[in-house]
Amino acid sequence: MATGEHFDAIIVGTGFGGAVMAYRLAEAGKRVCVLERGKSYPPHGFPRSPLRMKTNFWDPSQGLQGMFDVWSFKNIGAIVSSGLGGGSLIYANVLLRKDEHWFVKEDLARGGYENWPVTRTDLEPHYDRAEKMLGANPFPLEHAPYSSTAKTLAFKHAAAVKGLHWFLPPLAVAFSNPGEAPRPGEPIREQYPNLHGRTRLTCTLCGECDIGCNTGSKNSLDYNYLSEAKRLGAEIRVRSEVRSLAPHTRGYEVSYVVHQPEAEGRPTETQSLPLQRVTATQLILSAGALGSTYLLLKNKHSLPGMNQDALGRRFSGNGDLLTLAWRSMQEERGMSVPRILDASHGPVITSAIRVADALDGESGRGFYIQDAAYPEFVNWMVQLAEAPASLSRVLKFAWEWLAHRFGLNKDSDLSAELSELFGDCAPSANSVPMLGMGRDRPDGRMALDGDGKYLTLDWSLDLQDDFFQRMRDTMRAVADGMGADFKDAATLLLRRVITVHPLGGCAMSDNPSAGVVNAYGEVHGHKGLYVADGSVMPGPVGPNPSLTIAALADRFADRLLAP
Ligand SMILES: Cc1cc2nc3c(=O)[nH]c(=O)nc-3n(C[C@H](O)[C@H](O)[C@H](O)COP(=O)(O)OP(=O)(O)OC[C@H]3O[C@@H](n4cnc5c(N)ncnc54)[C@H](O)[C@@H]3O)c2cc1C
Repeated sequence: MATGEHFDAIIVGTGFGGAVMAYRLAEAGKRVCVLERGKSYPPHGFPRSPLRMKTNFWDPSQGLQGMFDVWSFKNIGAIVSSGLGGGSLIYANVLLRKDEHWFVKEDLARGGYENWPVTRTDLEPHYDRAEKMLGANPFPLEHAPYSSTAKTLAFKHAAAVKGLHWFLPPLAVAFSNPGEAPRPGEPIREQYPNLHGRTRLTCTLCGECDIGCNTGSKNSLDYNYLSEAKRLGAEIRVRSEVRSLAPHTRGYEVSYVVHQPEAEGRPTETQSLPLQRVTATQLILSAGALGSTYLLLKNKHSLPGMNQDALGRRFSGNGDLLTLAWRSMQEERGMSVPRILDASHGPVITSAIRVADALDGESGRGFYIQDAAYPEFVNWMVQLAEAPASLSRVLKFAWEWLAHRFGLNKDSDLSAELSELFGDCAPSANSVPMLGMGRDRPDGRMALDGDGKYLTLDWSLDLQDDFFQRMRDTMRAVADGMGADFKDAATLLLRRVITVHPLGGCAMSDNPSAGVVNAYGEVHGHKGLYVADGSVMPGPVGPNPSLTIAALADRFADRLLAP
């Protein structure tokens, strides 16, 4: 069905690239249409019960219109998000700038892996703007009650013991209202109402950032860039999944389907959903590294000017590695006792360690390690899994209760006995996940399978062995510094990693023969068609990439709006 609607710009996707573009173009007075496949998540809209979590995945053909979009390729898995705000809904809020010396310029023709057509200096003003808009500030470790956050203190201690550089990275989390001391659970005062029209609270330290923040404490994109874009007139259409795109006499034409709420929970023939059509002078793809690359691969026949050989190349998992510091112990009065790390207390990431690169004058490829967290319910699951080991405590409690019941014990207060049932809670309280990321080699290649239906990824762990070995050695040292064992089963036993930072596929390049888009995000050979998201990275960002994606999009917007 043709709607005949025409806009100045259509933006596909509302992650860090799309949200920045939507705001910048709406602010400049452009008529903007934003198409986002996922739903909107107001405070308390994120599922928590097992029943609702079961449907919190993305596969509309199976009746799933939820947030987690999980991919499994040959040697690597990937997790991305579907929803208004993209990856910001489930990200861990860390906003770091790409290291100055890591904007590598290698000769691709001579076996090099990456060639960045932008520099840190180019991005500096855009980083400033994005940080301000996203409300970046470090975890307030100097203030109570944050100062007693066990995992942060243990991580800091371990770094000091092992001679590593530790710091508190900027986080997109509201810990306080402007000019006030940080305090958990305070209503946040906003200059303009957010697009959900709901009150947010300052961070309650619940460790649930990665499953959606129900208190609205994360400065996710729906509360800043997208709220502003909407206020300035952008038309935001959720549940709208783009299927195809093609050049049009008025610029570009986009076809999309609308996923109806009524279809949730039951398999649907999504291929036969009616197509909506809109046109725009400029089209900006911001569907993420996997999403934008997939859309361009699927529609490459309509885009003959594009460098089809470069499309899909330069994939990087940003060197992601998830491991565990397991069962931390400390010496106390000559005894080895569990060290409380309380991984669920605080935002998911609070602090970071940076390990330098050969480009900084050290040896090897550089990386970051960050403390992580999981939601509290995971602790209960761990405790339950340990239940058989606590049988003796259960029997002791049963004996005390029976003794009281039959008058053998006069003490009618069972509080202490109930408390004892928990044991020392060591399994759930003395382990902490660690996240590593850095400068892996971006040699992965995405393509479509033979039927042209599914996305494939050719990526090898072998090429990354020295990089991951160095990272693992450092993580082992950090775990040791916390008195914990180091666990990394997935990489060693399964020879697989999982990335939450997929990048590349539509790499930037100055030379049209070396990439898909130019240094301002415009597709080589197709004027007015832009890509603004993680797919344009010609290599790993190194640190968490969202701020760099936002800064690049801000730079692209400057060029797009230039007279
Ligand atoms: C658990 C987790 C923790 C993370 N923590 C951090 C962190 O602390 N710091 C950091 O910098 N990064 C973090 N990240 C990574 C970060 O979320 C991503 O790098 C970032 O969101 C990528 O931005 P983007 O604009 O490229 O795309 P995305 O944010 O992925 O946005 C793409 C959007 O496009 C939509 N879309 C896709 N296809 C279509 C289509 N066909 N039609 C319409 N819409 C479509 C998607 O639904 C999505 O909303 C984390 C990620 C995860 C999963």
